[in-house]
Amino acid sequence: TPSFLTHLPLAPKDPILGVTEAFQADSNPYKVNLGVGVYTDEQGKLPLLRSVALAEDQINTLKTARGYLPIEGLGRYVRQVQTLVFGENSPVLQEGRLVTVQSLGGTGGLKLGADFLRWFHPAAEVWISDPSWENHRALFEAAGFVVKSYPYYDPETHGVDFDKLIRTLEGAPRGTIVVLHACCHNPSGVDLNEAQWQAIRAVVVERGLIPFLDLAYQGFSQGTEKDAVSVRYFSELPIPVLVANSFSKSFSLYGERVGALTLICASREEAQRVQSQLKRVIRTNYSNPPTHGASIVATVLEDSNLHQLWEDELGAMRNRIRFMRQALVSCLKEAIPDQDFGFVAEQQGMFSFSGLNLAQVRRLRQDFSIYAVDSGRICIAALNEQNLERVVEALTQVIREA
Ligand code: PLP
Repeated sequence: TPSFLTHLPLAPKDPILGVTEAFQADSNPYKVNLGVGVYTDEQGKLPLLRSVALAEDQINTLKTARGYLPIEGLGRYVRQVQTLVFGENSPVLQEGRLVTVQSLGGTGGLKLGADFLRWFHPAAEVWISDPSWENHRALFEAAGFVVKSYPYYDPETHGVDFDKLIRTLEGAPRGTIVVLHACCHNPSGVDLNEAQWQAIRAVVVERGLIPFLDLAYQGFSQGTEKDAVSVRYFSELPIPVLVANSFSKSFSLYGERVGALTLICASREEAQRVQSQLKRVIRTNYSNPPTHGASIVATVLEDSNLHQLWEDELGAMRNRIRFMRQALVSCLKEAIPDQDFGFVAEQQGMFSFSGLNLAQVRRLRQDFSIYAVDSGRICIAALNEQNLERVVEALTQVIREA
């Protein structure tokens, strides 16, 4: 008998997971997946951080029962998130103006924020960067918003088209929600400098916009403190600001789904009202969050030794990526001296917009079993000493013959 499922259309494949599926089906032993969105180490493996393993040892010896957490999450975790993202001496923290709730990864933080905004600021549009993380548009649309984009990346200069960006934001309707990548822009790897953040901040105030900062890569650009400067700039403003942060990458805890959403409020009293409503959003979605990932992060960040170990491990990930960027640039310089790939070394975070076009990406895949995203995005963290030479050879052929 026909049902509402009988003519249900097949949903399109996620573009990035599609790359991984094709990669897995490839039998070439020298295949390389540059399409991934995770950090892999010099052996090409997803790391389990030592700080995480040690924290888990501690947690295991405690043998605690698994009761429900409060709706807003583990208190110890929430406090550590606030300190890490806003800084130990943050005025907004000390004034009790932050509302932080534990979320299911950074995505969960964005979704809680999106639902909250949709409930209480329903007429607004959401503006995301062009290009942006592919889930931004889908997530805000699924929450019921009209999503538009503002200019960001300029393929000609391999930089930010800042004049266009600012001019576009100046024309945004009052109350527009502007999603900003706090650091390590995904997919371009091109970040805003401090002067540009200041200029955006001025437009946000003048135009009455609502900034929603996505901090998914804290520690992957310059370090945990410096990577939060954009958040700190916005926290000085007397306006509502939302911040979704994630520990998926910085703790290599992808599958534990650890993140948070923070709202900066005008007063302690406003913060209490906001928290009560955010708890409703959570309660009607998944009731309360899981325990394990948050307790790992809290245990690491609370303990000065583990905290330092984690910072060191994060620093090593950051430095390895930077090293691979430089290695890629110098190998390409040797192989294709008439083209300048120096921009790859200037980009921040795990990704690079390589400048490869769709035909080149396809050729890499078909002829060399090297997988990049159709947009030309490659994950620099997927490069290592063992695959670099192969990747450079393939890139050289594909670029030369274009
Ligand atoms: N935001 C951006 C810009 C991302 O790149 C990602 C992950 O790829 C996320 C959010 C989501 O991270 P999580 O895995 O913690 O949900």
